[in-house]
Amino acid sequence: MQADVRTDFGGRTAFVTGGGSGIGRAAALLFAHHGARVAVVDLDAAGAAETVRLIRAAGGDAQFLSADLARESEVQQAVERCVARFGGLDCAFNNAGICPPAGPFHELDGAEWERVIAVDLSAVFYCMKHQIRHMLAHGGGAIVNTSSGAGVTPAPFLPHYTAAKHGVLGLTRVAAREYARQRIRVNAICPGVTDTPMMRASIDARPDLEPVLLATLPAGRMGEADEIARAALWLCSDAASYVSGVALAVDGASTCH
Ligand code: NAP
Repeated sequence: MQADVRTDFGGRTAFVTGGGSGIGRAAALLFAHHGARVAVVDLDAAGAAETVRLIRAAGGDAQFLSADLARESEVQQAVERCVARFGGLDCAFNNAGICPPAGPFHELDGAEWERVIAVDLSAVFYCMKHQIRHMLAHGGGAIVNTSSGAGVTPAPFLPHYTAAKHGVLGLTRVAAREYARQRIRVNAICPGVTDTPMMRASIDARPDLEPVLLATLPAGRMGEADEIARAALWLCSDAASYVSGVALAVDGASTCH
């Protein structure tokens, strides 16, 4: 059987945020495997350098771009450096994020609220804004944003994370409508509980959490980073050429009620 040319990213550039760990690393490796040149954008220099090493060792082309995505000027620079290094930016996976400690709504500190909104929501806006400016000038592109199950159903004790991830879906939908005629597709994925360093940190902090989690997951297991990455790759690919404005749950039926 022949490979599907619509999932071939040869000659294209993918901008992957949070590419130094978890879902972002899995996506960076997958985009490269399908022929893309990959900008690995992250705060975590060691993790991103390892992702770049893995891609180059497999014969691909990748570049680490350091940025604190909560700062618009750093996002703008990262987009400019991506275009300077690779000659373009055809698709973007805006995936970097943090999951804060849980606590009662009425005790949430204002500074903590602002930190989570800055990284999990404002950063996605900054990325989209500067990516779209480039795509408008170059005939279009595809953007996938990482929301969460908490983007469609509330995550009690995580009001900031819940608000940010709901907001990511709002940004996705409004941009999908605004730029459909300019051939820019914008979609979101909503991962369920996924086995990544972020999730492992939560489990390590509360060892009783893992059996409780597994018991509540319909599939009886967590998702793997690669399973989330494959959905992002498909949404960015020409195989999804008429898909825009969706929030795709990749969660083993967790949010299906
Ligand atoms: P992860 O393993 O912690 O990877 C996230 C990466 O983003 C890390 O390399 C992190 O760097 C980077 N990052 C954080 N803040 C940043 C910033 N301000 N600027 C640039 N990079 C930054 O997490 P993951 O589990 O793969 O999560 C990826 C996305 O999926 C997140 O948006 C998360 O909310 C979402 N998600 C995850 C799950 C899950 O169960 N894992 C479920 C639903 C949604 P540092 O290590 O230096 O912070």
